[in-house]
Amino acid sequence: MIHAKVPKEKGETALKDLKRMGLFCPEYRILHSNGSILIPVSSPANRLPDYMETVDVIPEPRREKNYPRKHSGSFDVIGSIAVIKVKSMERAVQISESIYGSNRAITSVYYAGSVGSDFRTRHLTLLAGKEGTVTVHRENGMRFKVDISRVYFSPRLATERSIVASSVQDGEQVLDLFAGVGPFSITIAEKSKCTVDAVDINPAAVELMKENISMNRLRGEVRPFLSDAADFLSRSSQKYDRIIMNLPMESEKFLNSATDHLKDGGIMHYYVIADLAGLVDTMKSLNDAGLILINKRIVHGYSREKNMYSLTLRRI
Ligand code: SAM
Repeated sequence: MIHAKVPKEKGETALKDLKRMGLFCPEYRILHSNGSILIPVSSPANRLPDYMETVDVIPEPRREKNYPRKHSGSFDVIGSIAVIKVKSMERAVQISESIYGSNRAITSVYYAGSVGSDFRTRHLTLLAGKEGTVTVHRENGMRFKVDISRVYFSPRLATERSIVASSVQDGEQVLDLFAGVGPFSITIAEKSKCTVDAVDINPAAVELMKENISMNRLRGEVRPFLSDAADFLSRSSQKYDRIIMNLPMESEKFLNSATDHLKDGGIMHYYVIADLAGLVDTMKSLNDAGLILINKRIVHGYSREKNMYSLTLRRI
């Protein structure tokens, strides 16, 4: 990985400059070698200021900062439905007893088992309350109709969707490649007068997305497409200002063709579930695809070793 090399005395200035330019990679350690400081950067060498040399060295991940965050809870609440996602059914029953009854807004409690399809839905077992998997979830002042038995929806991404939507400017053309029932697309179009092409392979998700578009007042336009992402990309010649890739386990399969649809200087929001070694590999693939990292956030913990990361990248 490329590191900017400067004499020790210039270390502080160099770090400030790299941070200002969005090139510093804070997930790796700054290294010291023979009176020089080596600062990890996400940029190809020719974009660095002249007073910095470049060296290619093995990066040292910063363990303490990247250690997976505490898993963000053993259950999610989607509208009036609580969805419990722990390994043991016995533990799920205990949690269900403590949720149901103590919160009147919860009408049903389901145990969510393994992920059961390409649509990222899970096997559900009713633990308390009444049968019924359709609900309306409120998020960032908007309403989203969701059928948890037929579509994927995670309320843990609410802040992330708000952050992404706040960075979109009026007039942008946005592509949301794995759009689900439309929470990214609709949140963006509610805030900005832009156009969002929202693609999903799950017919139920696209039907609900259409309802969700009508249920919310939007400044921009969301155009739903029922399609496999790869087919959509191969049929379209349009270039976008911004592309959202929220299929954390498989996004990499679509990375090169999606990047081809990004304008020069365009922004990609890329989501990945990874441990530190996986994150380093992902960064390499992203750099190889012609993307440079401009921001990284941990969205939530996933397991003892892994986090879900949000990577914001620019096409060079
Ligand atoms: N972005 C949405 C959200 O925040 O709720 C949904 C994200 S979910 C992790 C991934 C979505 O990708 C699912 O709705 C699934 O149906 C869709 N999907 C999976 N494979 C796909 C493919 N090859 N092409 C298009 N969509 C796909």
